[in-house]
Formats: sequence, C-alpha cells, structure tokens
Amino acid sequence: MQTGKGLTYSARMVELVSTRDPREDAITYEQAILAGLAPDGGLYVPKRYPVLDEMTLQELLALDFVELAVRIKTCFAGDGFSPQDIKGFMERAYSSDKFPHTNKGVVTPVRQVSTLFIQNLSLGPTAAFKDMALQPLGQEMNCSLERADQSLRILGATSGDTGSAAEAALKGLPRIQLFMLSPREGMSEFQRAQMGRLSGGNITNISVAGRFDDCQDLVKSVKADPEFADLGAVNSINFSRISSQVAYYFAAYNQVNSNFGEPVDFVVPSGNFGNVLAGYIARAMGLPIRRLIIATNENSVLHDVIQTGEYRTRQAEITSSPSMDISKASNFERLIYDLLGKDPVRVAAYMDRFAATGAVRFSEFGLSDSVLRDIGFDSGVSTHEDRLDSIRWVHDQGGGIIDPHTADAVTVARRLSDDGVPKICLETALAVKFEPVIQEALGFVPEREERFRGLEDTMEPDAFLEIPADPEILKDIIRSQ
Ligand SMILES: *Cc1c(COP(=O)(O)O)cnc(C)c1O
Repeated sequence: MQTGKGLTYSARMVELVSTRDPREDAITYEQAILAGLAPDGGLYVPKRYPVLDEMTLQELLALDFVELAVRIKTCFAGDGFSPQDIKGFMERAYSSDKFPHTNKGVVTPVRQVSTLFIQNLSLGPTAAFKDMALQPLGQEMNCSLERADQSLRILGATSGDTGSAAEAALKGLPRIQLFMLSPREGMSEFQRAQMGRLSGGNITNISVAGRFDDCQDLVKSVKADPEFADLGAVNSINFSRISSQVAYYFAAYNQVNSNFGEPVDFVVPSGNFGNVLAGYIARAMGLPIRRLIIATNENSVLHDVIQTGEYRTRQAEITSSPSMDISKASNFERLIYDLLGKDPVRVAAYMDRFAATGAVRFSEFGLSDSVLRDIGFDSGVSTHEDRLDSIRWVHDQGGGIIDPHTADAVTVARRLSDDGVPKICLETALAVKFEPVIQEALGFVPEREERFRGLEDTMEPDAFLEIPADPEILKDIIRSQ
C-alpha cells in the first residue's frame, strides 16, 4: 500500500462485479457506468468498498465541495480516469452556472431548524438532488465514449426528477442519444415542463399511458431483446451515480461537526435506495455515521423490510411525494449483497424468491429479521397530512419552505428523541417543483426564483411522443432515431 497526497492508492483499485455472477468476472468502473444492469440481471458493485485512513478522513473534511467530490470519485474511478479528467468532470458538473447558489465552495449547504439539520442537495439546474449525481455521470460517460470512439443509446424511465436531471446533464453531448420514458399519471406540471423544454437533438421524451411501474417494465422488456441489450442506463443502478452521492455525506459532516469522530445520523427520503446506499458506503469508507434513517411515504416497502425483515412488493400508490412512489427498491440488492456475505448465488436466490412470490424474509436466508436495525439502519413512514404538517413546522421555525419529499424526512426526524447526535435531513428537491402541495400546506406559494419563472408556458405542444405501454412501439422509436 502506497500513500501519497493523503489518498490511499490501494483504495483506487476498485473492481466491480455483478451481485449475481457466480464467476465474479470483474469489470472496470468505466465499463460498469456504460453497461447499466449486468447481463445476469444483477447490479455492479465494488468487490470491496475503499476504506480511508483517519488522516485522509480529517483532510477530506477541510476541502471545498468540488475538491471533495474529486477525492471521493478518485477512490472509485481513479484507475480509468486521470486526476485531470476527474477534476474536469467535477468542475463542470458543479460549476456556478449550474449551481448558482454556491458560496465559498459550499454546494450543499446545511442549515439548522430547531434541533434538526437540513442539508440542501437540490440547488442544481433542475432543483432536485439527482443533479448531484447526473451532472458528473454525463461528464464521465462522454469522456469514456470519446476515448473509445463509441456512441451510446440510453433508455431511462422517470417518475419525475430523474428525467429532467438526466436531460439537463446529457443535453447536447454528441455521443449520447437519450430516450426518457415518463408516466402520463403522477408527474407535476412543473416536472413535465422541465423535461419538455429539453426535447430535441439527442433527447427524446416519451410519455407512456400508465404509471411509473409501467415505464420501468417497458425498459426491462426492451433491454431483454438482444438487439437492445447494449442500451445504457441513467437510473441509480448506474454506479456512477451512487459513487458521486457519497461526497455530500462527507460535506454534511464537515458542516455540523467541528471534531472528527463525533457520530451523526442521517434521515434520508428514500425510494430506490440509491441515496441512502451512498450514505452506507460513506460509512464503510470511515465517515462516523451512527444511523441511517430511511423515511418513506405511504409506499412503505423499505420501512417494512427494516422493521420486519420481510421485503414485500406491492402496487405503488401515487402520493404527494411522487419520486418515492416505488413498489420495489432497485438498489436494495447492493445492500443484500453485503448482508449475504457477498455471495452471488445467495443473492440470486434471494432476488429470485422475491421475483417469484413478491416477498422474501431475511430469516429464510439465515439472517435475523432485525439485521438492518442491527447494522445501523432505522426507518419511519409519513403520510400526506404529516408532510403538510412538517412543511408548516419548518416554515414556522424559520427554516424556509421545504418540498414534500424533504418533508417526509423531517416528519420522521421530528419523531426521534434528541439524544445529542446531530440529525441531518437530506433536502432532495426544492418546493418550486411541487407548488400545489405548498399551497395546500401554507395557503400561499412563494415567488419563484428568476430561473424557474414561467417554465410551464415555454413547452412546445409536441415535446412528448405519446405511446401506449407497448415495447414493440418503443423499439420502433429507438430504431428510427
Ligand atoms: C429520486 C428522489 C428520491 C428518492 O431517492 P432514491 O435514491 O431513489 O432513494 C427522493 N426525493 C426526491 C425529490 C427524488 O427525486
């Protein structure tokens, strides 16, 4: 092991394997970010997470956000990309024209509200935390494709925020063609308009008659066709996204703690388990996180598995925090991989059981049903009324106006006892995206920032191709571009 500039070089040798591949064929970070799902249906994960020594950890906490993001990314991608490449990705990803509120190197500011903390991850171009991960993803993919002289078609599905964040990140990149599916039901007008105005060029917006689950099923059935097996992915199964998100956990720690080593808790509004998985990885790397507390809305699949040990899918309902309306949590498999001893055969058996019966218990796999709580996860649920109440509460406390997803986290955090360990709620979208809910909670809607004014009026009538949930029609569209 060699150490230089505070970075442990052994940490740079990250190889990824599929969670379900018994041969454990390793691929590089670059291959993984262009590949999406593994051919066996698994997700790519680092064989081992890099572990940082205490000196490095101390050093990281003093850095501004872009430097911190470079250092964390280097731990995962430093084999394939040079330090200059990674620096360029992060400088472009988090530039001040994309993150106009950046102040003194702080991109994800933490504020205190009563005894809680709120970390704002949503100050990027599309006002959701997904910008934090998709901006670097676009840069990384583009660089890899250029070097390999290749191009890539990407098929994605969005319940709202991924679509515009991916489009804002990939728009105009010459080697990428993005097809983004969105459900006709469940998205806000604002979200539709954010996507619609990016249509054209390398971006095709497709509106599917149905719900988000129908969109995800379409992606799956198209990719199951060998002709489309090489389509890339921008959802959080793409490890680039997870690895970029690790950085803001470090950035939060830095803002609430003056002494390294004191524990903190994070409260994370969760859907597909991508965000909180990044927190889990930050902890594995050495950040002193005591608990990772998952907040769900009425679609409480993740809360239930944490509390009962049973992972059970059910039809998602549309709620007022729609980006968390999931029936299964795709990234959960990456945690299962660790829990099942990184044994791909057992992971495949667990996921097969889940796919076949819609439910699986840890105790069927020799684990305690409380295993997630035993390793530092916890959870809570919030309802529509709870969200309204938390929006009012934060506003009354002088903490500004939070969006309904952040309100899910604040609801859960408010129920925790104040034991002196800082509780950091992640702010995953700005209120401007969900004005009808804000109106309902507060009786008014605040004036929009200049950059979001009149957004809904700028949409062209043909910005979305309208299709039924039929894979053959979708394949024809992809072929024809
Ligand atoms: C995507 C999203 C979430 C859920 O994040 P996961 O990584 O899927 O758990 C929460 N809030 C908002 C606003 C989102 O856009």
